[in-house]
Amino acid sequence: MKIRFWGTRGSIPSPGPSTIRYGGNTSCVEVTLDDGTLIVLDAGSGIRALGKSLGAAHGTLLLTHYHWDHIQGFPFFDSAYIPGSKWRVLGPEFNGEGPGKYLSDQMTSPYFPATMSQMSALSGFEVVPHGPFHLGSATITTTRLSHPSVTLGYRIEADDSVFVYISDNEVDIAPHDQLARILDLASDADILVHDCQYSEPEYAGKHGWGHSTPRQAVRVAREAGVRELAVFHHDPTHNDEQVEALAEEARRLALRGMDISIAREGDVIDLSSIDEVIAADIRAEG
Ligand SMILES: [Zn+2]
Ligand SMILES: [Zn+2]
Repeated sequence: MKIRFWGTRGSIPSPGPSTIRYGGNTSCVEVTLDDGTLIVLDAGSGIRALGKSLGAAHGTLLLTHYHWDHIQGFPFFDSAYIPGSKWRVLGPEFNGEGPGKYLSDQMTSPYFPATMSQMSALSGFEVVPHGPFHLGSATITTTRLSHPSVTLGYRIEADDSVFVYISDNEVDIAPHDQLARILDLASDADILVHDCQYSEPEYAGKHGWGHSTPRQAVRVAREAGVRELAVFHHDPTHNDEQVEALAEEARRLALRGMDISIAREGDVIDLSSIDEVIAADIRAEG
């Protein structure tokens, strides 16, 4: 399984010299399974460049929720306009409606010049099922996160690896039973991508906004026993140094043996090669 970050920012795109290292595009992550199955998580502004790179492609878009930073790139997703492409879209149910309504609403006149019916490669919209479901060789599990409206976290198990995507989540205010379900979703992940938007002083004024600090992200990673935590959903007001300071704080709090990384636009993580590196380490030590 390969993961590529196309957008790692939260709330609103923030291009410019101060965000050049980790990127300014909003949430979008590409997952490619060893069997070729293509899964895209979220359609923030990062999906524009992904669509250009893919050209004609068959895949599935999984949306976590309908906040703008997770859908705003969708009208610019070229791959869904191209003959020969085929895209299925799944998202949570909100107020009795699914992804078809919320994606097309942002494309109604006068907000956008094209309508969603012009995206001829869209093969269907579905509400994410409650139980586990399959895409290619992957088993996908979801649970509801601690975030305004209905927001889902995704666990993708395939190719002997586990990738967990928790883009927007406020750990401190999650009720006990919800936190238990979130920990279950993340349990023993090879890599957990988790919201890490605020420093502690910033969080003091933002309780209930739906986002976490390094302390909260590390709590999930530690209690779920994950191998690597990639901090994600960087605040649009943070420059590269501030993003690094939050990761450093997470490193200070993490258990020994847990890796902390920063989700960076353009980075590719190959989980099968991580396993090979670990196997080589074990052989070298043994
Ligand atoms: Zn968000
Ligand atoms: Zn959100």
